[in-house]
Amino acid sequence: MMLFAVPFFHSPGECPRLHRTQMEETVRRLSPESLGSRGIRLVEGYIDRLCLEPTDKAHFSYFLFEAEHERQIRDLFEPNRVEIRALERFSDLTRSAGDGRRSPGTGPRTQAGRD
Ligand SMILES: [Zn+2]
Repeated sequence: MMLFAVPFFHSPGECPRLHRTQMEETVRRLSPESLGSRGIRLVEGYIDRLCLEPTDKAHFSYFLFEAEHERQIRDLFEPNRVEIRALERFSDLTRSAGDGRRSPGTGPRTQAGRD
């Protein structure tokens, strides 16, 4: 499974909290039952506290998913277009860097096969 982030910037006037039916549909789509049937796991969604209080500042919320393909995440937000970023785990990257330093040139456990 790969990790995907969906950053979601919006103005106070565009906040999903203001659109009740749209909000209910999003909550339904992102429920564990709905996602599970699509083979997606919501790691967590992080909702900007500014979404919850009156403000003039832009809001920034952030969702983190596990899925096999980016298009599964894209389908989730149709018809809205969202930005999707594939992520690497920091711990995976730092672990392999550490291995490289400790055992240079040993074994096939290098970049081969990663791409
Ligand atoms: Zn908001």
